[in-house]
Amino acid sequence: MATGRAGSEEGLRLPDRVTDSQIPAAVQELMATLRAAGHAAYVVGGSLRDALLEREPADWDLATDARPDELLAIFPNALYENRFGTVTVRHLDRDYQITTFRSDIDYTDHRRPARIQFGDSIKVDLTRRDFTVNAMAWGSDAGPGARGGVPEELVDPHGGFLDLRGRLLRAVGDPDARFREDALRMLRAIRLAAALDFEIEPSTFAGIRRSSGLAAHLSGERVGAELDKLLALPNPSSGLRHLGTSGLLAVLFPELATERGVTQNKVPGEDLWDHTLRAVDAVPVERTRVRLAALLHDVGKPPTAADGHFYQHEVVGAEMAEDILRRLRTPRETADRVVRLVRLHMFQYEAGWTNTAVRRFIRKVSAATLDDLLTLRAADNVGSGLPPDAGGLAELRARVAAELQADVVLDRSRLAVRGDDLIAELGLRPGPELGRLIDALVERVIAEPALNERPRLVELARELLATEPGATRR
Ligand code: ATP
Ligand code: MG
Repeated sequence: MATGRAGSEEGLRLPDRVTDSQIPAAVQELMATLRAAGHAAYVVGGSLRDALLEREPADWDLATDARPDELLAIFPNALYENRFGTVTVRHLDRDYQITTFRSDIDYTDHRRPARIQFGDSIKVDLTRRDFTVNAMAWGSDAGPGARGGVPEELVDPHGGFLDLRGRLLRAVGDPDARFREDALRMLRAIRLAAALDFEIEPSTFAGIRRSSGLAAHLSGERVGAELDKLLALPNPSSGLRHLGTSGLLAVLFPELATERGVTQNKVPGEDLWDHTLRAVDAVPVERTRVRLAALLHDVGKPPTAADGHFYQHEVVGAEMAEDILRRLRTPRETADRVVRLVRLHMFQYEAGWTNTAVRRFIRKVSAATLDDLLTLRAADNVGSGLPPDAGGLAELRARVAAELQADVVLDRSRLAVRGDDLIAELGLRPGPELGRLIDALVERVIAEPALNERPRLVELARELLATEPGATRR
């Protein structure tokens, strides 16, 4: 649960003012150019927040009273390609977003304002921003800046600096109103709190709980983008847990919400959702695709639960994962791989497997998916309170590596005959039957690697054709 952390005793040590050295020279140059042209110039939003936290900002955002057409005149290479007042300026090989002060008016679809209104005041601009730590600015109105005249100052009308020190994510203004305007802010709150390792201030969190139903208005792409950012954090579970307790999970991923409360005899006292979260955290951070698979790997369990078993949950789960990923507009290739991982995650290795069995396993999983699948299983083990290599995983990994190293047939690519050979030698024609014949040859060579010689395979193909009435000749 989100609980507020009291004030500054255990808060962050931050400089008590913004120092020049926290803002890169390139940003200061852009600010100086704006001021020399008679305009206000501020560093604002997430970039100022990150600079104060000594985190590298993903991008630097500036705010100004200059209108987009004025910005286009001041910066000859600027681009204006939206209707929200944000102009992109390229400076010393980097892009900077410079946004005209604005107010957002008439949110109609719980996502975007129907209208915006340009303004002349940084303070007014800051009130449209989502969280107090994102609603600070550092800079000055027109004038030559700190070195020449008007000194830069921190503009912080909503107490963001104190919240930054207290590590609190707090909505600007009335949380309910702000989440009603834009439902994405609820997901941003949870994602940002997880990224910054902040608590969500209690009345802000209560607002998310009350407004969680509005998340149904968000597009799949938007939800998918936030989920991707969450899964790319070192420990996504804190954010995922908040999705559960806030009610957002039930709205956005009802299939996962039903994992809560499903008992299984793994880690004592933990349910299926706890297991899933442990598994997600256990996947190395850079393996985002496997993390997505870990999140979805047991999604088929709640609907298949019976007598303490989850019969064929991986089959049901793969179909459910496919639906979820379609909803999120996950790119086809990623979605296919994740669905396969869910489908295959229940393999049971035993030390008694023959080398042929290992080769069949590789063929079934495909060499391209093996590493992901073994990584998923290691995380699944950790999620079950076991060592990562439980179930003979280290041995399987070594045996798989040995087969992959050896010059043996694992799929069509290393077979000593090709479709063209069989067409020429046996008078076959291309098509599904030829494909089935080649697969049958692969199966035979997987079991008996010595068969992988062209004349023997042509002979074998002839025998298979004679015994298999399905294969037709030209
Ligand atoms: P990050 O870039 O780390 O994802 P951020 O807070 O910088 O987080 P951006 O999308 O870069 O997010 O937005 C920059 C700033 O614009 C925010 O810090 C905030 O002030 C404002 N902002 C962004 N999205 C919203 C929103 N949905 N509602 C209100 N203000 C927003
Ligand atoms: Mg940003």
